[in-house]
This record gives sequence, structure tokens and C-alpha cells, in this order.
Amino acid sequence: MTCFARSDVQQVNLPRFVPSPVELAQGVPVTGGCGVTHRRPVGVNGRPVSVWALDCPECERVLRSDPVWSSSADQIPQTPDEVADAAARKSAGRGEIADAVSRLMSRWTGEYPPLAVVGDQGEVA
Ligand SMILES: [Zn+2]
Repeated sequence: MTCFARSDVQQVNLPRFVPSPVELAQGVPVTGGCGVTHRRPVGVNGRPVSVWALDCPECERVLRSDPVWSSSADQIPQTPDEVADAAARKSAGRGEIADAVSRLMSRWTGEYPPLAVVGDQGEVA
């Protein structure tokens, strides 16, 4: 299974925990990652790739519970900046649609009151 990193993750290093021989005899498992530093690959343009798929079974076992990693390429977590940008674009888009509808309605009726914009939560802006 592959893990996909959030866009602001440039590298990861998960140390391996190897229990002492006594602990191993007691059943304490080997945990952690592989201990190698994995870095976001660089594309042909010399820039880090936008989607980083890490293929390391030992590290993936740990990264599955990390909130900046995803086991699915279509569910890669967004950075706080990406979340803010998406919200701003969505809000701007709603405003542009309302303006366009208002202009169309004004054209048909002469004068038409501005339309209310209903948000995600059902609030009227
Ligand atoms: Zn690894």
C-alpha cells in the first residue's frame, strides 16, 4: 500500500525501534519506520512533485495514522493555506454567480432586487 503526503511535507524519517533481546523474548514488537530519510521526489522541471506517493511498507504502517498523510491519492489532506484558498475561491465563485444571475434578471425585468446568496450551512449572506 502507498501513502500520499500533504503538499507541504518535504521529507520524513521514522526511526526504527528495536527492543532489547530481553524485550523481544517478552514479545515486545519492533516498531517505527525503516529509519531511512524519504524525500519528496523532484520532477523533470527541477521542482518537487506535487503528489508524493511513498512506497515503504515499514513507514506506511506508521504514516497511516498521521493526519498529514493519506492512503488514497484523492484524499490527500490540504494544508491550512490550501483550505483558506479553497474557501476564498468558493466564496468568490458564489458572489460571481449571484452577480451574473442578478444581471440577467435585471435585463429581463428592468429592475430586480439583489439575490440572496445561501452558504454551505444554509445561512443567507
Ligand atoms: Zn521508510
